Amino acid sequence: LQEGLYCIGCGALMQCSDKEEAGYLPMSALQKQLNSDQLLCQRCFRLRHYNEIQPVSLTDDDFIKLLHQVSDSKALIVYVLDLFDFSGSTIPGLPRFVGEGNPIFVVGNKVDLLPKSLKPNKIKDWVRGQLKEQGIKPVDVALTSAAHPANLDALLTTIDDLRQNRDVYVVGTTNVGKSTLINQIIKSKTGVQELITTSRFPGTTLDQIAIPLDDGQSLIDTPGIIKADQYAHQVADKDLKYVLPKNEIKARTYQLNPEQTVFIGGLARFDLIASHSDEKTSATFYFENNLNLHRTKLAGADDFYEKHRGELLAPVPKDKQGLVGHEFTTKTTADLVIAGLGFITLPAGVTVKGYAPKAVSVFLRKAMI
Ligand code: GDP
Repeated sequence: LQEGLYCIGCGALMQCSDKEEAGYLPMSALQKQLNSDQLLCQRCFRLRHYNEIQPVSLTDDDFIKLLHQVSDSKALIVYVLDLFDFSGSTIPGLPRFVGEGNPIFVVGNKVDLLPKSLKPNKIKDWVRGQLKEQGIKPVDVALTSAAHPANLDALLTTIDDLRQNRDVYVVGTTNVGKSTLINQIIKSKTGVQELITTSRFPGTTLDQIAIPLDDGQSLIDTPGIIKADQYAHQVADKDLKYVLPKNEIKARTYQLNPEQTVFIGGLARFDLIASHSDEKTSATFYFENNLNLHRTKLAGADDFYEKHRGELLAPVPKDKQGLVGHEFTTKTTADLVIAGLGFITLPAGVTVKGYAPKAVSVFLRKAMI
């Protein structure tokens, strides 16, 4: 690879080390293709032969360059967010980058993970409230589940109504399910010849992938932006299933006394430090269903973690540095969020501590459920 081989599809420098990054090809496939002049990275290969888009990611700088391109054109921005990892999937400063006049249509994905009893309008209001804090006023909010797209037609109709002869740019961070969604859209549209790889955004390593729309405009898939604080980057591949749940999350409620601790596998920890009330504190945990919760006394919790990490308390983060604690006192009903892993719904007037690896954000937000 020293001479620098480039993919004829997207122009990315070929590499065999990181399958999430542009230009990836497994070593075995590279060796097979070495003598051909048609070297394709895995992503372009799948696009060409299976009509399937694979996720690929960009660094912040390249992504911001890409968004600036969008701001120079007349576009509808479809902003895909993960309802289960809302903060981890937001793109800071998005409206600034996409240009004043370009409307933003928010698609809250993975609605299948939230309790079925939760009313869609309540979720949408909560989404609007969270976006308002970031200065985003979407033209519309839709909920979807790209993995089980029962309402894909309705979503496409909304996009068509909102775009008014504009190109459509689909943006999102990695792991929000953007590729899954685009692949569903491709499936529901005609086929192979529909897909075109158009010219590269200057300064980025990747071509954009465009799906032609009826009036000559395009629906354009943009690479996912990597957010280093997403929990997915903290676990080994085999443990990703605990961070990217597949099924409706079951609420698990504990009645806790002060000075009790609950471990969330070996990935995170929750301490109830104090409560204003004499009653037990009801804490409801929303985490992947197979992630074991383990209650113990706060006093011995540090030693307990050291002794049982990787066994009783499993899985554990890749990084062996241990967990960092963040203390909060709730003023209203609130969620203590372990970004990208899940959250704990708490009553007002409790002092708590949430622990996660150093790179992962831990914070309080308005209760979602
Ligand atoms: P991208 O990085 O945004 O392109 O994300 P992907 O499409 O690769 O999806 C990331 C992960 O989320 C994968 O494990 C998908 O199976 C999962 N996923 C995508 N859409 C949904 C959904 O609607 N519900 C659930 N539960 N998981 C989803």
